[in-house]
Amino acid sequence: MTTSAVWHPFTQHGLGEPIPLVTRAEGAALHTADGRRIVDAISSWWVTTHGHSHPRIVAAIREQAEKLDQIIFAGWTHEPAEAVAQGLRDIMPRELTRVFFSDSGSTSVEVALKMALGYWREHDPARHRILVLEHGYHGDTIGAMSVGARGVFNSAYEPLLFDVGTIPFPVPGGEQASLDALEQACAAGAAAFIVEPLVLGAGGMHFYAPSTLREMRAICTRHGVLFVADEVMTGWGRTGTLLACEQAGVVPDILCLSKGLTGGAIPLAVTMATEPIFQAHYGPDRAKMFFHSSSYTANPIACAAARANLAIWAEEPVAERIASLGKRQQARLDALSGIRNVRGCRRSGTITALEIAGEDGYLSALGPRLLAHFRDRDLLLRPLGNTVYVMPPYCIEDADLDRIYAAIAEACEAL
Ligand code: PLP
Repeated sequence: MTTSAVWHPFTQHGLGEPIPLVTRAEGAALHTADGRRIVDAISSWWVTTHGHSHPRIVAAIREQAEKLDQIIFAGWTHEPAEAVAQGLRDIMPRELTRVFFSDSGSTSVEVALKMALGYWREHDPARHRILVLEHGYHGDTIGAMSVGARGVFNSAYEPLLFDVGTIPFPVPGGEQASLDALEQACAAGAAAFIVEPLVLGAGGMHFYAPSTLREMRAICTRHGVLFVADEVMTGWGRTGTLLACEQAGVVPDILCLSKGLTGGAIPLAVTMATEPIFQAHYGPDRAKMFFHSSSYTANPIACAAARANLAIWAEEPVAERIASLGKRQQARLDALSGIRNVRGCRRSGTITALEIAGEDGYLSALGPRLLAHFRDRDLLLRPLGNTVYVMPPYCIEDADLDRIYAAIAEACEAL
C-alpha cells in the first residue's frame, strides 16, 4: 500500500505500480526526481502542443499572475479573456460568433449540451434527444459520460446517465450504414448530434474519413439537428489542420475546445456557438440567460496562457512543425508495418496508432505489461488496452521519436 495520500485518476493503486515523481519538464521531455529523462510521447494526455514550459507561455502566466490573478466572470470581464475570445473569432469559422469559457474538456461538453437544450427550449421543447457516435469519449462528468460510450469507464454510474441515440461508428465499408442510421435518428427528431471529428480518441484511436464527417453534417443540417464538434482532442493541429472539421469543410453549430488551447500549460476550455444559439438565451428575460458557471470561469492566468498560445500560432511556423511531425511519424510507422504482431497501422496528422496482436479492449491483460515496458525504457506512453498510439508535442526531435518506435517494435516482438 502506498504511503501517499494522493488518489490518482485512471490508476489501479492495488497493482502497486510505481508512480514516478516528475519535477521538471521542457520541450518533449519530463525529468524525474530520481534523475531520469522521460520522453513524453502522448503530450501528457494530449495537451502539450508546442512543448512543455514554452518560454512565451511561461512568461505570459508569470506576468498575468502579478497583475490580476482571478476575477468573477459573471458580469465582469478582463483583457486576456477579451483578447482570447476575439482571437478565436478571428481564426475559427466565422459562424461561431460567441465564446463561452470553462475549465476542462468535460465541462466544455456539458456546456455544449446545455446550450443545445437551451436553444431548443426556445424553438421546440419537444426536441431533447442527443445523438452520439458509438465508442465516443467526451469526458467523465455526468453529461459527458452520458454522451460517451457505455462500458468499463462508467458502468458503475449507469443510474446517473441519461438516455441517448447511438449511431454506429463508420468502420471502413460501413460508412453508409452509419449515415443511414444517423438520417433515421435525425428524422425521428433530435436536439443535437455530438461527434469527435475524424478521430475517436479514448475510444481506441479509430479514424474515419472527412467525406463521412461532411455527410454527417449534411444530414444534421437537413433535419435541423444541431451539430456539435468535440475538438477537445483533435483541435489545435493534432490531425494536421487547426481543426479536424476543416478537412471536411464542416462548420459546427457548437464547437468544444480545451487541451491545446493554452498550449497545454494550464486548464482552460471554450465552447463556441453560432449567433442563433446565443440569441436563444438573449433578451430582457432573466429566466432565459445561460445558467452555467464555475468559480474560475475564464481565469485570467489561464486566459493569458491561451493568448500566448494564439500568438505562437500566429507568429511561429506551427503548421510547418505539424506537417513535418506527420511525415516523420509516417516514416517510422511504415518501418513498423512489417513487424510481427503489428496490426492496423494508421495515422491522422500528428497521431499514429496500431494494435498489438492479442486480446482487444481497454482491460486487455497486455495493457499493464505494455505500460511497464515503456516506463522501464523512460517513455511516457499509455496504451489503450492493446492499442498503442503516439501523439507527441510538435517540437519532438528525431532521436526521441526513434526511441519511441524502437520500444514499440521491441514490445511487439517480446510481449
Ligand atoms: N472530449 C474529448 C474528445 C476528449 O478526448 C477528452 C479528454 O481526453 C475530453 C472531452 C475531456 O477532457 P478533460 O479531460 O479535459 O475533461
